[in-house]
Amino acid sequence: MVGMTNEMGLKDSESVNGKRVTKIPKDGIHDFMRSIIASDPEAQDLKEPFFVLDLGVVKNLMDKWTHNLPTIQPFYAVKCNPDPSFVAYLASLGANFDCASKAEIEQVLSHGVSPEQIIFANPCKPESHIRFAAKVGVKRTTFDSVFEVEKIKRCHPECELIIRIKAPDFESARCPLGAKYGALPHEVEPLLRAAQDAGVAVVGVSFHVGSGATDWRAYHSALAAAAEVFKTAARLGLPKMRVLNVGGGFTAGPQFEDAAEAVKFAIQAYFQDETDLEIIAEPGRFFAEWPFTLVANVIGKRIRGELREYYINDGIYGSLNCILNDHAVVTMQPLDLENDHDLEMKTTMTYPSTVFGPTCDALDTVARDYQLTEMEVGDWLVFTKLGAYSSACGANFNGFKGVGISTHLVHSEHC
Ligand SMILES: *Cc1c(COP(=O)(O)O)cnc(C)c1O
Repeated sequence: MVGMTNEMGLKDSESVNGKRVTKIPKDGIHDFMRSIIASDPEAQDLKEPFFVLDLGVVKNLMDKWTHNLPTIQPFYAVKCNPDPSFVAYLASLGANFDCASKAEIEQVLSHGVSPEQIIFANPCKPESHIRFAAKVGVKRTTFDSVFEVEKIKRCHPECELIIRIKAPDFESARCPLGAKYGALPHEVEPLLRAAQDAGVAVVGVSFHVGSGATDWRAYHSALAAAAEVFKTAARLGLPKMRVLNVGGGFTAGPQFEDAAEAVKFAIQAYFQDETDLEIIAEPGRFFAEWPFTLVANVIGKRIRGELREYYINDGIYGSLNCILNDHAVVTMQPLDLENDHDLEMKTTMTYPSTVFGPTCDALDTVARDYQLTEMEVGDWLVFTKLGAYSSACGANFNGFKGVGISTHLVHSEHC
């Protein structure tokens, strides 16, 4: 539960999900990390890696979403980062949720979120999970095959369906999803007929332009395709469609404004005649990427001429799996254990460096040819903006802790 929080998130409360939140100034995160390293036994003695989650950044992102897309309700895609405090805090800010499994639904409900605020946005679900959704009152799901219609009819006939269509492929997305999900244009009509025959309601359309989309044109053509589905449904005499789900793919950087403009423009162009249209989205990366910072410890070192090689205690089998799985390009910086103010006095000489993860697999390489100032064994390395598809997909390969790394909560002040 989210303690005493209100619309403003933290105003009346010092904790989220039962966890203490430290208020810090806007640039205070390095000071906070130093205080953790000096005081937390896991960091101080065991030198275990840890995350810092800045709720001030989450709040800013929610404001940014509302400012740019005021008519589109965000359903946060839990798979991107299911950290309980993060999910609880988003719930306190009024977010809804995209869950893909029974466990994700259970988690979100445990934060006091109502089942109406959840979309079961996995087009292909195990029957036991569908029955669970029926039991707890989650009444909206996506589909893209006739077999899913049959399962829904059997296990959850009251459920409202949203047809997932394949967004036209754009090379630029970091992780395209079209190869796995989404009905092709010629499959739409048979699918709508199948639902009609089964007596299951289809209330809308969804798509996903690919995770980490960088080309706003993807939204334009996907929305054009969605408008065609609305027309097909009307032609078949289905009840009027009323939900438009623009999926995920948003990034939090400067491209967000462009994507938001493109989405609004295309909705205006293709859906201007729709009244009472409910527009939702399923952003994952947009909310999860920026607020999390990872701090890992240097556990080994080698020098070969100019080259510096470091071994750290998190890697591609842990939180940094996003380098492989999500094609992430990480940004890192040594944490100065002195105060930042003394930094100018220090040498800023950098070396081409390789950073390895801790496991005995050569694939476990975090970065090559990365310019870093010289570090020693026992120093700490900071990875910023590391919340998307990172801790969510780690393993404990080789006995190194890649899951369940502790997360400390801060709330930075922003003006
Ligand atoms: C993964 C996923 C998302 C989130 O995608 P992002 O690119 O992280 O925004 C949204 N919807 C569905 C159905 C997904 O599978």
